[in-house]
Amino acid sequence: MVKPSAPKSAAKRVSILGSTGSIGDSTIDLIEREPGAYKVVALTAHSNWAKLAEQAKRLKPDMVALADPAGYTQLKDALSGTNIGVAAGPEALCEAASLASDWVMAAIVGAAGLKPTLKAVERGAVVGLANKECLVCAGTLFMGAVKDSNATLLPVDSEHNAIFQVFDFNQKDKIRKIILTASGGPFRTWTLNDMAKVTPAQAVAHPNWSMGAKISVDSATMMNKGLEVIEAHHLFGLDNDRIDILVHPQSVVHSMVEYADGSTLAQLGTPDMRTPIAYALGWPKRLPAPTGRLDLAKLGSLTFEAADSVRFPALRLARAALQSGGAAPTILNAANEVAVARFLAGEIGFLDIAAIVEHTMTRVPLQSITTLDDIMAIDGEARRVAAAKNLSAAAE
Ligand code: NAD
Ligand code: MG
Repeated sequence: MVKPSAPKSAAKRVSILGSTGSIGDSTIDLIEREPGAYKVVALTAHSNWAKLAEQAKRLKPDMVALADPAGYTQLKDALSGTNIGVAAGPEALCEAASLASDWVMAAIVGAAGLKPTLKAVERGAVVGLANKECLVCAGTLFMGAVKDSNATLLPVDSEHNAIFQVFDFNQKDKIRKIILTASGGPFRTWTLNDMAKVTPAQAVAHPNWSMGAKISVDSATMMNKGLEVIEAHHLFGLDNDRIDILVHPQSVVHSMVEYADGSTLAQLGTPDMRTPIAYALGWPKRLPAPTGRLDLAKLGSLTFEAADSVRFPALRLARAALQSGGAAPTILNAANEVAVARFLAGEIGFLDIAAIVEHTMTRVPLQSITTLDDIMAIDGEARRVAAAKNLSAAAE
């Protein structure tokens, strides 16, 4: 029997911060599969004005914003003859995030996403949060803003989205721990000697996921998992010792929650970010997503192993930052952003990334942070220290 389709409700108004990135692309892919279901309000990008213009011509947002003003004229020219508002500079991103919309995808990479994402939070929007660095850099302030404004925060990071799907918020006292799975990245089985020679091209080639360059390098150093422990702490209110990491090279079990009665609930799926994005986009309803079907018989086996914080010191550093609290995670995040950029530029070796983070964490004093200005000041100081660190073992 063919069921009559439900009457179409008004289009959902969506804004995408970081629309030109990997998560931005996947979000747009889902939106374009349901013509008429969405009205795009704003799109933002860093410097790729040509891609932003091309997306804007297709999606017809009210506004586009480019963080880097250098591309403003080209973007404006490319969109001349349309009704799309064009603005540039970091403030323009905040303006775009402030425009009334129902749902916002926060998919800018790094602490650069903090201010625009906060703008969306402050007006009480439903925010799909991919930009984990927001929570690492400013978790307490960010979660305070979510609470004060009654915004809805939906985790998009696959592990946190998985946990969100099986986390019983009404019986939090019955949750023993959460278990974040990690692919282990491309160098999971490599020796430290071999890892010292890793090139940027090798580090960005993730075995299971197709992602932006920064998160790919973070996955390779496993700093990504460290950042995710801090992200999980803020999202689910659990301490360090109740957030485990489990290496699972197939990236099928996206994470788990262990309950007091011995039950462990997990969410599984093929590694495709369109699943967690669709979950956040449709929440509280489920939407169809064009992902591959999970065929466990074909996969045959799923494997698990302990994480190695000797070969992957970023895991130890991130946990130490969470344990110290205050400014420590802000410093960790800023130093890591700088170190990853320096590695991608061929300036330092792969193992130097964690070394620079550790150096920065010991050099920048742990002041107390309460305001956004305090956070930006510490972030800036950590960036200066991380950028100035000279290493003898630079990449050849
Ligand atoms: P990406 O590099 O592909 O895209 C980043 C986006 O942010 C682009 O639109 C870019 O223009 C914009 N941007 C970069 N620097 C900016 C700046 N200084 N100011 C304003 N905009 C800027 O990254 P991605 O892989 O899409 O990841 C985005 C975020 O989502 C990251 O925080 C990442 O950790 C998180 N995430 C990504 C994935 C994934 O599969 N790609 C999975 C989980 C979480
Ligand atoms: Mg993740």
